Amino acid sequence: MRLDAFSICHRYDIITAVDSVSVSLESGEFIGILGPNGSGKTTLLRVLAGVLKPCAGAVLLDGEDIHKMPPKLVARKIAVVAQNGYIPFPFSVRDMVMMGREPHLGRFSRESRRDTDVVSQAMTATGITHLAKRSVLDLSYGERQRVIIARALAQEPGILLLDEPTSHLDPGYRMEIMDIFKSLSRRKNIGVMAVLHDVNLASQYSDRLILLNHGRKVADGLPEEVVTKENMESVYGVDTVIQTHPVVGCPHVMLVPGSRASGQVEG
Ligand code: ADP
Repeated sequence: MRLDAFSICHRYDIITAVDSVSVSLESGEFIGILGPNGSGKTTLLRVLAGVLKPCAGAVLLDGEDIHKMPPKLVARKIAVVAQNGYIPFPFSVRDMVMMGREPHLGRFSRESRRDTDVVSQAMTATGITHLAKRSVLDLSYGERQRVIIARALAQEPGILLLDEPTSHLDPGYRMEIMDIFKSLSRRKNIGVMAVLHDVNLASQYSDRLILLNHGRKVADGLPEEVVTKENMESVYGVDTVIQTHPVVGCPHVMLVPGSRASGQVEG
């Protein structure tokens, strides 16, 4: 499966949030999207998911225009984990994960043995089997985040689009969840594209990084090509020392305190 976006633009009234961005994602690939607040990351992800229509350009899912496909068909291929997924009702964890099967069910069909198996596997992969009967409203933020991820896995997507999937999680949970995504991309050949705030986390887990600034793509390449002192300075306005991670071998950024002039904060 592959997702190709060509020269995407998206505007909110007078604000151009995404400006001529082209990206592609293949099965088994893990791409991190980086950029300061307000640089267009969430908007780009929503356009790629088919949720927002671009004002120019096109998104092709295996060669087919995603914005012309029925949403249910898109949902069989792409799962999205949005930021701060709001859960309004006290569903049980298992029922919530079963909702991920919805795109695969017929109009009046009941869940099959296969649906039950897929849901169990998704719960095992995210370590929430013991929570199956609990109400989602009574869970901690980290547990709830895993339920939302399990629901996305139950969709059996070929492509996973993630918007800040680990924000507000402690370092242990954060690493565990990133490890789950990485292993899914490898073992199940899922293409993963994740908006990440943490440059070091993105550098550590991504095969390729895309850096946005003011809605434009300013870098696209291997972590060592994107996480450079020059890019950190021009995009985030900070002075950095960049070293090689002693275990993983990817670039690791250290901020030089006091190096950012005030007034550069956006969004
Ligand atoms: P990021 O995810 O990088 O923080 P966003 O895609 O959320 O960036 O936002 C990009 C720009 O679009 C920002 O200037 C933001 O204020 C604007 N924007 C985002 N969503 C909306 C909206 N619903 N209505 C108007 N402007 C928006």
